[in-house]
Amino acid sequence: MSLLPLPYSRQHIDDDDIAAVTAVLRSDFLTQGQQLPAFEAEFAAVHQVPHALAVGNATQALHIACLALGVSAGSRVWTCTNSFLASANCARYCGAEVDFVDIDPATRQISTAGLAAKLEAAAATGTLPQVLIPVDFAGLPCDWPALRALADRYGFHLLQDGSHATGATLDGKPMASDWADISVFSFHAVKVVTTAEGGMVCTRDAALARTMDRLRSHGMVRDPAQMLAQADGPWSYEQQTLGYNYRMTELQAALGRSQLRRLPDMQARREALAQRYDRILRELPLTLPPRRDGAQSAWHLYAVELHDATRRQAVFEGLRARGIGVQVHYIPIHTQPYYQALGFKRGDYPRAEDYYARTISLPLFPAMTDADQDRVVAALRELLAC
Ligand SMILES: *Cc1c(COP(=O)(O)O)cnc(C)c1O
Repeated sequence: MSLLPLPYSRQHIDDDDIAAVTAVLRSDFLTQGQQLPAFEAEFAAVHQVPHALAVGNATQALHIACLALGVSAGSRVWTCTNSFLASANCARYCGAEVDFVDIDPATRQISTAGLAAKLEAAAATGTLPQVLIPVDFAGLPCDWPALRALADRYGFHLLQDGSHATGATLDGKPMASDWADISVFSFHAVKVVTTAEGGMVCTRDAALARTMDRLRSHGMVRDPAQMLAQADGPWSYEQQTLGYNYRMTELQAALGRSQLRRLPDMQARREALAQRYDRILRELPLTLPPRRDGAQSAWHLYAVELHDATRRQAVFEGLRARGIGVQVHYIPIHTQPYYQALGFKRGDYPRAEDYYARTISLPLFPAMTDADQDRVVAALRELLAC
């Protein structure tokens, strides 16, 4: 009997999504029409934040967020090494020096105690960061009140890489509604809401929003009230800074609106699957994903840790051989050759390295059935021989 391969993540596209995209294809505007502002307004409402700007992907979002926060050559930007490359690369685009903070093994996220100690040492030598980029790993909100307190105490900006955390909440508040200066979300096909490729930057600060709006569209303004010179006529536009073409298309925005309407249902299914995994994996020699009091995870990932790291590769390959699409999140950023060439070494962040050596992300997506899940658990049980 051959079973269909089970992916680790799969986008959830329904007939409403297809109808929404098709309607745009039949309309007058494929880009720069009315879908984009509507998607932004609806995303802003869900995340209870006044400004949301859609861009081509979260990497672009992180780039313009860094620029808006004043990151430039000589700036110091810190992030967590247990993340995707883009969390650090965005600062390198601006010429900044990147440094990393290790994880708390209990949360797999930036260690607030480790961060506090590193900040204290940096304050003593006058090398505090301008920007910190925490990552809500797997969709679980970070300890944002503690991060905000440290940001206020040491005077750095908080740029949230919430790529995993669309729809997550902490103390009843959505991500982006509080705490961070700018919050970024990803709509890549494997993320919890998708526009195929896409990203969003959110902020409560009108000036930051205006700056990022210009940066995503060539550094250009069209509103005569915002021009430096007298407008030549109704056709006028003015380039005031160096910007990019980081826009999202109408097709993507229409898909995003349709997806956003289903977010509560998709989220509920992810939560139910996560709880069911917790239950049926309980007896296996694995550490299961953490939860945080008062936090609702977006459950982008369900990542387990093997008690015995020496078995990780065999278990990973065994699952793949059985058609179960597992992944590993993440190879610590500082171990990449590019960052090693900048001076980072293996051993610099031992907790993230130890976590990496043990972890496997199991399949989790809204259309996954209980039977799919039972198949994953049966294969794990067999491979772990218990
Ligand atoms: C996916 C992801 C990104 C990049 O998102 P794109 O939309 O693919 O550019 C950045 N950071 C993290 C943590 C991610 O998971």
